[in-house]
Amino acid sequence: MQPKRIILLGATGSIGAGTLDIIRSHPGRFNLAAVSAHRSAEALRKITAEFSPRACALSGSDREGAGWITHFGMQGLLRMIEETEADIVVNGIAGAAGLLPSWKAVTSGKDLALANKETIVTAGPLIMKEAGRLGRSILPVDSEHSALFQLLRGRSPSDVEQLILTASGGPFRDRDPETFGAISLEETLRHPTWNMGGKITIDSATMANKGLEVIEARHLFGIDASRIEVVIHPQSMVHSLIRTVEGSMYAQISKPDMRIPIQNALTYPELVPCPFGRLELAGEQLSFFKPDKKRYPLLFLAFETAALGAGYPIAFNAADEVAVEAFTAGRIPFTGIAELVEETLSLDWSGAAEDLEAVTETDRLAREACARLLDTRGGKQ
Ligand code: MG
Repeated sequence: MQPKRIILLGATGSIGAGTLDIIRSHPGRFNLAAVSAHRSAEALRKITAEFSPRACALSGSDREGAGWITHFGMQGLLRMIEETEADIVVNGIAGAAGLLPSWKAVTSGKDLALANKETIVTAGPLIMKEAGRLGRSILPVDSEHSALFQLLRGRSPSDVEQLILTASGGPFRDRDPETFGAISLEETLRHPTWNMGGKITIDSATMANKGLEVIEARHLFGIDASRIEVVIHPQSMVHSLIRTVEGSMYAQISKPDMRIPIQNALTYPELVPCPFGRLELAGEQLSFFKPDKKRYPLLFLAFETAALGAGYPIAFNAADEVAVEAFTAGRIPFTGIAELVEETLSLDWSGAAEDLEAVTETDRLAREACARLLDTRGGKQ
């Protein structure tokens, strides 16, 4: 068997580290063909020393000349994806910056293992259509969507009534919502189960992250938002469920370790043994709750956004990024994140984003609109 050739984007983040662990654990099965980081040159250098990829990119730097780096800047990164012969691109880039690399991966004829949810949230219909046209697979790496992908395999769409995504509920699931205005950045960054980056940890506390996942599930699996549900499941062992029409539910249950969904994307369509621990159910308690609107307004806004479609999901995502940044910088309280996103969504985003340029333009306009709302707010304080 020829090793599967992988291009890994965002190699120094948590998805990158997990992917490298999977490659290490299966000698001869995978080959790291190319790798990218944003600015962490030192960490990238260690990875290239260990795996000897043919190409490597530093997407956040335009500095030419450091001999061992073959590609610089976003344009260099896109060229690397296009030029490198590979079977699959793992996109672990955080935020809206992941969109163009995802698009390039699919249009240059590679499968896409996708951890960048912004790709599907902002350009889902476009990229799903393009992947279908070119016969490429989009394999979700996010634990919930990976679970749904596995649960739906080989099942007729008409048998499935509902997709049910689980959520940890974040660090404030038991805190009195009346005190949410006083939540500090430090408290927000303490996540109970998953160890992730800063923005996604804040999104997990507000459940904007789950909201993005609802929108993502809608596009990935072509199912109406009204047939998607979210339940809070603090143990993070059931990663998602489906409900079939006769009333049964099927769940995917495993340790909360990102390396399992990463491996399943990399070995698709096969399942192979994973060295990162199996779960024993004896002695475990699994619990489930309904999320409430007062505690998680962004989740409920996301359902409305998913139903509205057009430019609304792009605006939701853009406004959330601007608002989280403002919270991180101490400009707004925790409760201001949802308020800013809601104010941005109350503007008109009904224009359809028919191509990638329209997606990036809507994204830009939404960021500007949100930043203006933020400045107005600042003036009032
Ligand atoms: Mg997730």
